[in-house]
Amino acid sequence: MSSAEDISFETLPHPNLTSPEKRAELMANPAFGRIATDHMVMIHYKDGLGWHDAKVMPRGPLTLDPSAAVLHYAQEIFEGMKAFRTEDNGIAIFRPDANARRFRSSAERMAMPQLPDALFMRAVDELVKADRDWVPSGENASLYIRPFMFANDAFLGVKPASEYLFLVIAAPVGAYFSSGAVTVWVSETYTRAAPGGTGAAKCGGNYAASLLAQAEAKAEGCDQVVFLDAVEHRYIEEMGGMNIFFVFDDGSISTPALTGTILPGITRDSILTIAREKGMTVREEAYSVDQWLADAKSGRLTETFACGTAAAVSPIGTVRSKNGGEVKISGGKGPGPVTSALREALIGTQRGRVKDTHNWV
Ligand code: PMP
Repeated sequence: MSSAEDISFETLPHPNLTSPEKRAELMANPAFGRIATDHMVMIHYKDGLGWHDAKVMPRGPLTLDPSAAVLHYAQEIFEGMKAFRTEDNGIAIFRPDANARRFRSSAERMAMPQLPDALFMRAVDELVKADRDWVPSGENASLYIRPFMFANDAFLGVKPASEYLFLVIAAPVGAYFSSGAVTVWVSETYTRAAPGGTGAAKCGGNYAASLLAQAEAKAEGCDQVVFLDAVEHRYIEEMGGMNIFFVFDDGSISTPALTGTILPGITRDSILTIAREKGMTVREEAYSVDQWLADAKSGRLTETFACGTAAAVSPIGTVRSKNGGEVKISGGKGPGPVTSALREALIGTQRGRVKDTHNWV
């Protein structure tokens, strides 16, 4: 297999770069994920040949055979990460090594080849270098980076493919949620992942399966769905695209444990590390939705927040469910003091305001 060191990236000429004026206009108000930067990175994989043919090229449409395996059996995985404009006008990418590791473990679960971490990081670096002018400044703005890989065999048969494409694209983004505190819907109808399934992998199929639950949440006037466990339908797992944390009146925090059905969020891991360093009591444990709502009403629970690359740290102010009605947390407003402190420690590190003691950027 090719290693990152011996694979060379060819840079194709770009005949039609976005003008600085047009770029400034596009970046002035970037809705989440709608803007395409100028470039993409593409690397091919074939059984027997390994990773080959790495290119930095103009971003554009792909040509696939209609029998390409991904279109039928959904062998597809992706990552989501961000590059930030730092206060000294540099560019910082947050924990790319953690994304590279998670990408490999997603690949393993989906019977796909594992891209070496160094090659993953090199590909991300090449794209950010080519598109560096697309990294916005501003407190809530960043360049969202989307590495992904899919099965490209032209073959109608259910088996792991022998050919894959790995790509990296990017989009300048602003804040994920427009409002201050998020309203969530606890889905009692749909579950996201079952034991032995693919919940811990970042594969496209998980998100396809979550969309109807997300639509149900929207129809109930909520921003996001909260999923419960698939066995007892009692324990909180995570949200459509974020992990969840609970803050208690004794100063402790908790988050659902990684049992194989939850995506191991890199923001989740960073928050756990930061909270432990602040001397907080941190628990990774099962927490039922009934207990959550009861604790919110009694005041034992003081704050709840969602965390992920896209939304960073966002307070949850209102919980709705079919059986539990509507419950307010922190008076429906936010962020509370613990959420704010953890958020500032995280965002400060990403933007170079807080000393990076973990080599995260
Ligand atoms: N859970 C799910 C289902 C997600 O899609 C994401 C976003 N990747 C997260 C949690 C948060 O993960 P991270 O902090 O690595 O972005």
